[in-house]
Amino acid sequence: MIDCHFHLDESMISLPGLIAGMDAAGVERVALIPRLCPPLSLSFPFVQLSGFFRRLVNRESGLVQRGAAAFYKSMVKADGTVDVGGRRYPVIPQPPNEEVRKAVFLHPERLWGWTFVNPAGPDDPIAEIEKGLKTPGIIGVKAHSYWHNYPVAKLTDAAALASEKNLPLLLHLGADENGDFKILPERFPKLKIIYAHAGVPYAAAVCAYVREKKNVYVDLSCTVYVDQKAAALAVNRAGAGKCLFGTDGPYFHINGDRFDYGPSEKIIRGLGLSREDLERIEKKNFLEIIGRS
Ligand SMILES: [Zn+2]
Repeated sequence: MIDCHFHLDESMISLPGLIAGMDAAGVERVALIPRLCPPLSLSFPFVQLSGFFRRLVNRESGLVQRGAAAFYKSMVKADGTVDVGGRRYPVIPQPPNEEVRKAVFLHPERLWGWTFVNPAGPDDPIAEIEKGLKTPGIIGVKAHSYWHNYPVAKLTDAAALASEKNLPLLLHLGADENGDFKILPERFPKLKIIYAHAGVPYAAAVCAYVREKKNVYVDLSCTVYVDQKAAALAVNRAGAGKCLFGTDGPYFHINGDRFDYGPSEKIIRGLGLSREDLERIEKKNFLEIIGRS
């Protein structure tokens, strides 16, 4: 298996712990994303509430879906903090790409990395992408228009460079203009775009769009956003050739110095997919996207 979505936070899981957890779960490769907040710790009711939220936001359309998307949007505050499970966390304006570059350098056989860009932040996205291009094993560009709170259109320059250099863009969408999932695929038809967490907060619409649109994909990471039902919806809508396995580790399923792959694995294995489709989602689609074998 390849885990396409995992954050590097060595205060939560050390690098040796990460590799040991991968070995135990049969995960060959992890594509690391720099951390964008301090370590998350979750309260019990959050897990319950997240299920309720997911049922509402994953609806097709209509008032309930719009209300859930508005709630999702309200978790990001004007002062640059986010509310996760009733606690406030400061969002890091420029997630530390050098931490990921270093980890990838240390474990070239097991780790790949994403370059995090923030067009609303202090650092130039183009300069960050160029630093990544000089590092073997940096395979794509990650952006978070939700927590970094900017319209997707602001990613135009970064997307143009990613498209030119054949780097995929992994994007966690916000709501409204921060969640415009059509603008980049229309402007950059050759750019490979992956919408995180099955396209939250517009999963139903995003997955239908992904099926129609070449080079657009979703990842199935994060059990808070993508449970069994949401994963089934994503695969049925988008197609097995358009879905990618990921976890959003180390968040939500940490066990000592290991990431517990059990919950994410259970979801993907519980979909009743053919061996071929399972292989696509767990590995092949991502290898094709990044042009490796
Ligand atoms: Zn994430």
